[in-house]
Amino acid sequence: MNFAYAAVAFAPALAVGSFLNVVVSRLPLGRSVSRPRSACMHCGAEIRPRDNIPVLSYLLLRGRCRDCGAAIGLRYPAVELGTALLAAACFADFGFSLHALAAAIFCGSLVAISATDIERMIVPNRIVLPAAVVVLALQLAWRPSIEWPVAGFGAAFFLLLAALAYPAGMGMGDVKLALLLGVADGRTVPLAIIVGTLTALVPSIVLFARHGRAARKMAIPFAPFLALGGVVALFFGHDVVSWYVNQV
Ligand SMILES: [Zn+2]
Repeated sequence: MNFAYAAVAFAPALAVGSFLNVVVSRLPLGRSVSRPRSACMHCGAEIRPRDNIPVLSYLLLRGRCRDCGAAIGLRYPAVELGTALLAAACFADFGFSLHALAAAIFCGSLVAISATDIERMIVPNRIVLPAAVVVLALQLAWRPSIEWPVAGFGAAFFLLLAALAYPAGMGMGDVKLALLLGVADGRTVPLAIIVGTLTALVPSIVLFARHGRAARKMAIPFAPFLALGGVVALFFGHDVVSWYVNQV
């Protein structure tokens, strides 16, 4: 653990998280992420630079627009803080390396993909596919191995079979997300899929308990659960796999 690296990574990652919020808001609508400047969704007033400080501005404004008082979604500080904490953990755990950079890009992408899936029930191609290419390239530069592409395509193929068998529960977006999980997690990607599937069962069971048969038609975004699995496998995968191998 290197907490100095974590501290150095934290502030830039907060800024990246702030940019990811723009991506999550605009990309699904086909709007440019570079202009115009950010404005209040409710009254259209441009966000002043001093009100655009990640997390801090949200707290100082108590989650409301300075001009009209409309609520600012909790998603904004959540994406900023999630991106920054995960990136800091990557550099603390993996040191100052290409692998840490790949892991941080992986985590930031997972945060943006999860937020988009929760808000709009889509896994955006324009985040997941470029992220998979960049993460794969960095992983190969860090440690050249067929592990990364094999895990990526293996995980995608596995979810493709699952999506064909159970089309109501999974989409092609989840298949592409599995590709990203594989190139980032490598041989520990089965753990990511297991954790993702098991944690996704929890809200499914709650919905079923509350609504009975009607719950079958209620869609649950799957990407945030796969993303959680991907992060668990990234940080704890090798420990879990070696513990398991020692048991059998
Ligand atoms: Zn406003």
